[in-house]
Amino acid sequence: MELIQLIEKDIKAEDESKKVIVSLRVLYLVGLSAFILDLMWAGPQVLIHNWIRIVLLLAANVILFFHTYHSRTRLALILYIIYILAWTLLMIPCFGWSAGLQNYYIILLMLTFFAVLGSLQLKVGLAAGLLLLRIILIWVYGGIRPMAEIGSVFDKLMQITNIAAVFGAIIFISYYYSHKENEAENKLIKYNTRLRQAANTDQLTGLWNRRRALDYLADLSKTDGVSFASLAIGDIDFFKKVNDQYGHDVGDVVLKAVSDVMREHSRSDTFIARWGGEEFLLVFPNCNGDHAFIAMERMRQAVQDHVVHAGGTDISVTMTYGLTEVDFHKSMDEAIKEADDKLYIGKGSGRNKVVY
Ligand code: GH3
Ligand code: MG
Ligand code: MG
Repeated sequence: MELIQLIEKDIKAEDESKKVIVSLRVLYLVGLSAFILDLMWAGPQVLIHNWIRIVLLLAANVILFFHTYHSRTRLALILYIIYILAWTLLMIPCFGWSAGLQNYYIILLMLTFFAVLGSLQLKVGLAAGLLLLRIILIWVYGGIRPMAEIGSVFDKLMQITNIAAVFGAIIFISYYYSHKENEAENKLIKYNTRLRQAANTDQLTGLWNRRRALDYLADLSKTDGVSFASLAIGDIDFFKKVNDQYGHDVGDVVLKAVSDVMREHSRSDTFIARWGGEEFLLVFPNCNGDHAFIAMERMRQAVQDHVVHAGGTDISVTMTYGLTEVDFHKSMDEAIKEADDKLYIGKGSGRNKVVY
């Protein structure tokens, strides 16, 4: 567990991707393990004759591993490439061609495409360079025998060790990058949803805002399964008095409480938005005016009955609503105007009522 934490620890440069650095740390550890096993299979003769380069390469591995905690991504990548080149060039003559160290270039090829930032041309160029190097290696070291005799069983074990290390590294890079990619994509989707939600929600009341209401109305006639609807506009009665008497903050608390009451006393398919200051828009899809009227009456009564405890006192407010049926042949603006006119009539005839 501690090893995983060590590998996953962030780099100092916060603005850089962690992926490359974490991959390199794993690669150094895989390389180190394979190197130590190779040395075991190769036997003491190889170790004694080549101890300087072996000690230098082992030390480089450990130093470069810890260097990733301080290094920038690009430098760390370049250092890893140099390390692999140094390792192959120095150790193939010791272990022999059949040990398979040349396969580590495939890891570099993977890193070129996954970790190197830059144009496709750059990546293809680097890949071509690697291929060239790999071919040159065949010329220089192809078929070379180990410096000291290695038993055939140990030679096989060395091959297995190195090919397993390369396979392991490739599997890790592929999994890690695709896994992190999905994670990033999921995160993006989540942030987008949250962003859209925030852009469409009224902060104070938690109801939909006017922007969302306009979108909703524009799409309503095209919504599957909706063939008719009723629409109402409600306005709190004498709300100015609440503000004047108790202050704007208490007014806000009342607004929020009234919104909650309306939401609690509506069906899940009823659309409620804060249309303006203390005005609300309600839409009842697939509900005719008579049914909507019954629902609105219930809601009006609930608002009237609700007592808000705010500013050290109990406050009750009432609401007046204008209700109309939506005719999809006419524009939404006309329906809103009809509801507004009815609301106005309600305000002029005693308030605290639903005018239909
Ligand atoms: P009426 O019954 O005719 O509607 O009377 P009213 O006092 O409610 O009159 P009107 O609708 O014209 O007044 C709306 C008031 O609502 C004015 C404004 O200060 C207040 N208001 C609008 N938005 C907010 C808000 O977000 N918070 C608070 N506290 N008050 C608001
Ligand atoms: Mg009002
Ligand atoms: Mg008003």
